[in-house]
Amino acid sequence: MPPSTPNDGIFSCKSCGATFPPETFPEDQFDWLMDRHDRQSLLHKMDLLSRTKALFEAHSEARQVIESIQRRAMDALLSGGEVEAEGGEQRLAEDRQLERWTEDDPELKEFLKGTTFLLEPRIVFVEQRLMEMQQRVDDPAPSCPRCGEDALGFVEPLEDWGQRVKEG
Ligand SMILES: [Zn+2]
Repeated sequence: MPPSTPNDGIFSCKSCGATFPPETFPEDQFDWLMDRHDRQSLLHKMDLLSRTKALFEAHSEARQVIESIQRRAMDALLSGGEVEAEGGEQRLAEDRQLERWTEDDPELKEFLKGTTFLLEPRIVFVEQRLMEMQQRVDDPAPSCPRCGEDALGFVEPLEDWGQRVKEG
């Protein structure tokens, strides 16, 4: 178990609202809760990747446009947040297209703007991880020390992994 600091995140009960630092739980319970958390975030990533795939299939030019937008995010990251002035017209057009494609799905828009990935290898990777984890969450869930409900969820120190990429 990693040492506990305020940056380690906390466990929060969705039933009674209590929060608990990681060291509240014995190691096996901590591992169990983290496994479930990892599995849930992988399932969430898989869901975002499936929505990305559906978008690529619905619009023949979507892959190219989104890869260009993602390259920009990566370039900005590498150059310390500087955005070059050239290609502004093209950038605006690409942004507008992304806005149109994701107007009903702001979460997908943020995901596509904030991360860089190759769709097919990433799907294979997440699928493999999920299969490896599948058997590990069989024991009964640790319950909330305060209310006794199985409603504990892990809250990451940073909002989500896409955010981390954006903030560098
Ligand atoms: Zn509770």
